[in-house]
Amino acid sequence: MTFKTVSFRVCECGAGRGFSDTRLAGRALGRAQAKRNRRADKHGSRRGLERENRFFECQYGLFHLTRQSRRERTVVGL
Ligand SMILES: [Zn+2]
Repeated sequence: MTFKTVSFRVCECGAGRGFSDTRLAGRALGRAQAKRNRRADKHGSRRGLERENRFFECQYGLFHLTRQSRRERTVVGL
């Protein structure tokens, strides 16, 4: 099994994969969207599919992909 070099690590903030800079996050974002779009094309509609569409910097200084939701923001941690 081949393992591609990954440029993210699991962050302690609980948001999952974290990228060390915006370039990496942006690239991962593009890849995630391309993957989603391919799936959506098969589906026939892109509506209602979840897509990561932005990233944010967490308190540990890593960047996480996130989905923009209408109003709600997930509060992680407490
Ligand atoms: Zn984090």
